[in-house]
Amino acid sequence: MPCPNGVDIPGIFSVWNNVSLYDTDPKSNGNLRQIREKGNGADRCVGCGACEAACPQHLSIIEMLQTAWTELNAD
Ligand code: SF4
Repeated sequence: MPCPNGVDIPGIFSVWNNVSLYDTDPKSNGNLRQIREKGNGADRCVGCGACEAACPQHLSIIEMLQTAWTELNAD
């Protein structure tokens, strides 16, 4: 489900998974750079809950997005 506020939910989780799996530096991740440049980061999340309501697995997407975004943008 696309986020009505422009957060690239699958893109952020994909980058987070890859960075964790291969222990790479997020600063060198091209997909993360594109998400930032397009303004589709988790900092756009307003917590409306639409993604969680649509998630068949009932994941805590809002909390997971914030955790991912914080880790990916840590220095
Ligand atoms: S809770 Fe955040 S990520 Fe989920 S649909 Fe709303 S704005 Fe988008």
